[in-house]
Amino acid sequence: MKKAYNFNAGPCVLPKAAIDSAIDALKDFKGTGMSVIEVSHRSKEWDAVMDECRALWKELLNIPDTHEVLFMAGGASTQFLCVPMNFLEKKAAYLETGVWAKKAYKEAAGLGDAVVVASSADKTFSYIPKGWSIPTDVDYFHITTNNTIYGTEIRRDIDSPVPLIADMSSDIMSRPVDVGKYALIYGGAQKNVGPAGVTFAIIRRDALGKVSHYIPTMLNYQTHIDGKSMFNTPPVFSIYVMNETLKWLKGIGGVEAINKINVKKAQMLYDEIDRNSLFVGTAAKEDRSIMNVCFVMAEGREALQDEFLSFAKDRGMVGIKGHRSVGGFRASLYNACPVEAVEALIATMQEFEKLHK
Ligand SMILES: *Cc1c(COP(=O)(O)O)cnc(C)c1O
Repeated sequence: MKKAYNFNAGPCVLPKAAIDSAIDALKDFKGTGMSVIEVSHRSKEWDAVMDECRALWKELLNIPDTHEVLFMAGGASTQFLCVPMNFLEKKAAYLETGVWAKKAYKEAAGLGDAVVVASSADKTFSYIPKGWSIPTDVDYFHITTNNTIYGTEIRRDIDSPVPLIADMSSDIMSRPVDVGKYALIYGGAQKNVGPAGVTFAIIRRDALGKVSHYIPTMLNYQTHIDGKSMFNTPPVFSIYVMNETLKWLKGIGGVEAINKINVKKAQMLYDEIDRNSLFVGTAAKEDRSIMNVCFVMAEGREALQDEFLSFAKDRGMVGIKGHRSVGGFRASLYNACPVEAVEALIATMQEFEKLHK
């Protein structure tokens, strides 16, 4: 098989163990003589997968009993709408740190009164705004912890006087999180915990039930709590692979252990970007993401961009082109991206520098 160093931003690289196990389960799921995509989602074999997966989420993220773990569909983009539907009564507040944050805000503003507390739009979202405070007259405060497109990240758990809601699509399970501080954490699985098709939501039960309007059934978190994430047919294959991915994560020591590796991988690549005369990082140093590393050609060397992309491609690098809205390069170093891939990318950057010194 061709060797690929996969730096895709999402869907992303997954552990080989999870892929192998998925292949087996596609052929024969737990000795049932049927594929995992053919069995009933009401069978006891499937129930066991749901239970195991929920338990792994709780264990790996240390989720308190006040919170439920839900598996939904529709991606983080549908959660942008579920959030105001379930929480917005008078007014909502958002921190605008990128395109995903803007899309989340748009849904709230479309349904009711929403304010932007602070924004980094003035510098292409290359930093996390500072010096703002959370209004106390709002129903909730929404943040995007990792800004996948710009490579900035809020890596601490904010104290909020109002229910705190976070889109953690691209940094969930990359570091320990104090889940108790959040009313809701949500995201698409395909950035760090599984394939596309399943959406996770970790929700504090007592934060619900505070709005007076009708909440459409499928958008209502209570529906999915009551139905144990099986009110309707769940995305079984995606959940199966997510469960295998979490088993792999537990096997290598869990979130604390992977966080150390993630910090190391990011540090190695940022060090090279800072050292290499051909490249510069685009995110403010204090806000640099450990998941998505964004960089461009140094001033005066912009003409080398396409050449570097094809040079890296020849050496097996996949997915390092920056998002179409910002250009340059982006290497996504999610949990399953091995240190070896980062080393290969660094070696490629060094080789390229020698050619163009
Ligand atoms: C990818 C991404 C989304 C969109 O996720 P979908 O599951 O594709 O809807 C939202 N927020 C962030 C931070 C993302 O990285």
